[in-house]
Amino acid sequence: MTDTRAAHAFPGLRTPDGARWHYLDSAATAQKPDVVIDAVARALGPDYATVHRGLYARSADMTLAYEAARRTVAALIGGAEHELVFTRGATEAINLVAQSWGVANLRPGDRILLSMLEHHSNIVPWQLIRERTGVAIDVCPLTEDGLIDLDAAERMLTPAHKLVSFAHVSNVLGSMLDVPRAVALAHGVGAKILIDGCQSVARLPVDVAALGCDFFVFSAHKLYGPTGIGALWARADLLGAMPPWQGGGSMIDRVTFAETTWAPAPQRFEAGTPAIAEAIGFAAAARYVQDQGLAAIHAHETALVATARAALGRINAVRLLGPAASAGIVSFTIEGVHPHDLGTILDEENVAIRAGHHCAQPLMVDLGVPATARASFGLYNDETDIAALVRGIERTLRIFA
Ligand code: PMP
Repeated sequence: MTDTRAAHAFPGLRTPDGARWHYLDSAATAQKPDVVIDAVARALGPDYATVHRGLYARSADMTLAYEAARRTVAALIGGAEHELVFTRGATEAINLVAQSWGVANLRPGDRILLSMLEHHSNIVPWQLIRERTGVAIDVCPLTEDGLIDLDAAERMLTPAHKLVSFAHVSNVLGSMLDVPRAVALAHGVGAKILIDGCQSVARLPVDVAALGCDFFVFSAHKLYGPTGIGALWARADLLGAMPPWQGGGSMIDRVTFAETTWAPAPQRFEAGTPAIAEAIGFAAAARYVQDQGLAAIHAHETALVATARAALGRINAVRLLGPAASAGIVSFTIEGVHPHDLGTILDEENVAIRAGHHCAQPLMVDLGVPATARASFGLYNDETDIAALVRGIERTLRIFA
């Protein structure tokens, strides 16, 4: 990884008066490097035109760039372009699988296995599908240190399970899933497996072929790319057999009032004018993290987690949550201080953390806390950000004492 403390490459890492902003909320959304901002600006400016329709040269060029972006994003996770659907984000990607694959394949008597640490976006779409299909939802518990308990999953899975859907990395605890084992367990009972890669794709090398999963979803904005775009990767045979879930332009082969036929995948799942500039920015972000090296990013964030956990562990009032081996995320509570108060005081010190339920309310109940404070790292963070966090916590404790 090159010197990513090149904060100048991230205009968002400065406060309005030019001071350093200790941004510790990359698990919510990552700041953008110049290369991504420039790519989006070019796509919206001198290169701008629609895709898949225009007969003029600019539109033909933009179509090539949009499809090249699909190739680049697919390659980031070891996938092929015909297996990658652009969506609005991970949330929409999961809803797509639920509404398309789920409605076509799930029947009363079938079961889905989720885990206790899932983000609401990997819970609620399946509840909507439960209403429509009669499928039952089971919840895999966690181990003591906050990992999805795969021994429990092994005991719970039955031939009635048609789908397992687990987070690769927990957005609250940073716990990392042993994906190959989860895949083997799911496939062992004939179930498909979806991996929510929202937090992993910016933090770990991902190769869907090596992982062996059936579906993999992620959002560009957590990968140093734009908002408004994400991706569903699905095995070609599965994607090819899935019915469309939204109708409109671009997803058809031929339309008559009597009957409409569909375009092949992935276009069949991209109704309407797509997020063109965002796709270009997504690809720029994918190239950016590949240039930095995901193994190097992971090593950098692992070192930051160790430093942060050691420093926070020295403060008596702090209770650390989750495993020591976390992918770039440290959740904690402070005795006598609500996480929201901590977040507000830290903001005065130019330290940005997330405080709340992190869209994982069932996990909060399981942990026995109403909310947590969460510091999450990106490739641009270093020890000075952790030192600022610790100073801010000490000040908060003085105020509350
Ligand atoms: N899954 C996980 C693990 C997440 O962290 C998030 C975002 N916090 C999502 C899903 C949803 O992503 P988005 O809001 O970008 O669709």
